[in-house]
Amino acid sequence: GSVIDQLRFTGGRIHRRKTVVKAVNSVSLDVQAGETLSVVGESGCGKSTLARTVMGLYRPNKGEIHYRGARIDNLSSHRMLPYRTKMQMVFQDPYASLNPRMTVRQILEEPVRFHNPNMNRDEVSDRVAEVMRQVGVDPVWATNFPHEFSGGQRQRISIARALVLDPEFIAADEPIAALDVSIQAQILNLLMDAQEQRGLTYLFISHDLSVVEHISNRVLVMYLGCVCELASAKELFSNPKHPYTRALLSAIPKLGGKAGGHVKLSGDVPTPINLPTGCVFHGRCQYADERCSREIPKQHTLANGTVVACHGVEEGRI
Ligand code: SF4
Ligand code: MG
Repeated sequence: GSVIDQLRFTGGRIHRRKTVVKAVNSVSLDVQAGETLSVVGESGCGKSTLARTVMGLYRPNKGEIHYRGARIDNLSSHRMLPYRTKMQMVFQDPYASLNPRMTVRQILEEPVRFHNPNMNRDEVSDRVAEVMRQVGVDPVWATNFPHEFSGGQRQRISIARALVLDPEFIAADEPIAALDVSIQAQILNLLMDAQEQRGLTYLFISHDLSVVEHISNRVLVMYLGCVCELASAKELFSNPKHPYTRALLSAIPKLGGKAGGHVKLSGDVPTPINLPTGCVFHGRCQYADERCSREIPKQHTLANGTVVACHGVEEGRI
């Protein structure tokens, strides 16, 4: 099928309660229909904020979000309704994201009834049973409550809730991070199968680079709310350009090989409220020079399509 320019987000400051937190800064990206675009970075880099902003849970005070060509960040909640069915989110903690006082049936039927007021009882319950089967939870458990399920089953139920409205786009924020390692692969496979069957587009937030390498078409690397690098998964993992990307990758132990490179990643991540001047990474970057502490690097597109924001790469000294 044709590749559709699906989302564009050029974020600025994000209002969160009354404080203004500069959490995501000039991130501009198109998510293409049918792809998995992963966002990686250490905690506090703004990856969750980016996903929630795309979903309309946070409002950017600068920048725009477009969905299939239509601007959606400034819509009233009523006009946002059609997008609420097309765009869904899966959260890290399935226990916190499922209402403990509702049965699985109630959890799954509620959005279907709300968005399809003309559906009759049987149609609604057929839809719910079908999606439960798809995620591997037997519909006989529909009258049970979330706490009666294991963590993996609960995440299956929250994936069912995301799928039940037949969405096009899912933002998944660390969807396997809270689960036992033994069931992470099952949930990942479930997400991948659902993508294949339904042609879903994923914005996948993760700190787990081996998972990201396995599932992604493209990867966005963020640090302190800024884009470091945006590349195809293949290029990013075989030919990382940005010093921060290299540092992240060198921390992954490679099977049957040495833990690649000797890129140092030291020091704490500064707070996003008091961003450093110049390149946000300069305090931890072994390649930093005087220009880096004073001038914000621009995003350059290299010949292989990789986008990288780094003076050193631009100057050809890295
Ligand atoms: Fe390092 Fe400078 Fe590149 Fe930032 S701009 S990553 S400090 S070399
Ligand atoms: Mg997070």
